[in-house]
Amino acid sequence: MTSATSGSTTATSSPRVMFERAALIHYHEIGLKGRNRSTFERRLRDNLQFTVGELTSERVERISSRLIVRVPDQDRLDAVCVRAAATPGVSYAAAAYITSRVRQEMNAAALLAVGEQPGARTFAVVARRSNTDHPHSSIEMNRIIGQYIVDETGLRVDLSDPDVTCFVEVVQGEAYVFSRKFPGVGGLPVGSAGTVVSLLSAGIDSPVATWRLVKRGAVAIGVHFSGRPQTSDSSEHIVADIGRALEHSGGVARIYTVPFGDLQREISLVTPPDLRVLLYRRLMVRIAERFAAVEHAKALVTGESLGQVASQTLANIAAVDDAATLPVLRPLIGTDKLEIIAEARAIGTYELSTQDHADCCTLFMPRTPATHATVAQVRDAETALDVESMVARAVASAEYRDFACPAYRAPKRLPEGVVKAGGS
Ligand code: ATP
Ligand code: MG
Repeated sequence: MTSATSGSTTATSSPRVMFERAALIHYHEIGLKGRNRSTFERRLRDNLQFTVGELTSERVERISSRLIVRVPDQDRLDAVCVRAAATPGVSYAAAAYITSRVRQEMNAAALLAVGEQPGARTFAVVARRSNTDHPHSSIEMNRIIGQYIVDETGLRVDLSDPDVTCFVEVVQGEAYVFSRKFPGVGGLPVGSAGTVVSLLSAGIDSPVATWRLVKRGAVAIGVHFSGRPQTSDSSEHIVADIGRALEHSGGVARIYTVPFGDLQREISLVTPPDLRVLLYRRLMVRIAERFAAVEHAKALVTGESLGQVASQTLANIAAVDDAATLPVLRPLIGTDKLEIIAEARAIGTYELSTQDHADCCTLFMPRTPATHATVAQVRDAETALDVESMVARAVASAEYRDFACPAYRAPKRLPEGVVKAGGS
């Protein structure tokens, strides 16, 4: 399988050997999952196949508690590592040299790996072997390879705080040698934690909340409420872009868009102004639960953060939750806006969420929304509405857009009236 063939190298002092390269992918939490391990590994492999698939047609292989994707086009190696590292469930991806277990080859690869950190003055070798059939113990390998690097480069060994660490992993018939690690997002493979329905606005918070659940292994189905026909459809385009931005993680599968403006108007005509936002929210929750039933989702997700706006006081959260039968997860409840913004930037949604758009929540907004509504008050206000019919009309007017999510299986049947956005 490997590969010392004649050719040129970048390090002038090294033997004239060219190695096959690969992204070597490590995960951590999967190891904790006991009997489910192989299901988890397969899930992660399939997700990685999708996330790196644009860059390489090579298969992602499972090799002894690791995943590996060979990268024949070495110019793409870093990009493959970056994509792999951004995939939920990955603890890190390393830009590895693949060598045989022959000592001279491992030495040569180690020299190249150390050379990838220019300016380093000190180094350490950290060798591991997963088969004990290799003739040298890890400690012996550290010593042999370390000595070779000292002889060839004059670098100094520093085991406590080296400028560069050369990792050598002997696995089955091969060895993987690397010094550059791309830290992964961690979490769990998408598809290993069930499905959630996320109330996805075009704002900053809910995409981040959605990502948090995706990172923990959930497939996310978005439900977006647009102010249409009372407003333009601008928020719908932003939400579609947010779906595409999160698509690289392989986590957002589908977004349902519900034109909500007329229902908001109905609410505003017959209910006290200060309760409107809460009544909108209660209706959103009920509609989202219909889609949760269709998608076999077990929880709802929102981007609320305690006290951030009037609708997010403890009292008002309770007044909205009263309309829900599923758990409502609020992964951002204890985070500050600045932390959320930093995370939005990191996942690539901030620029999208800060574009101008029509926000349905501000439709028919009173000057002073209630900050401490009670469940009794909102229930009472709702008696003026035909909630069941409103939910049914909303669901029947929804459109959906699909995103690439390898872990997702679309429901066979959709509620009457629900159509794919853009026809067909
Ligand atoms: P975001 O930035 O996510 O819009 P926000 O700080 O603007 O949040 P609110 O507008 O009070 O807060 O919304 C609270 C939560 O309710 C949102 O995070 C989202 O989960 C849900 N939500 C609000 N508006 C919509 C909408 N138009 N479509 C879908 N969900 C919504
Ligand atoms: Mg909002």
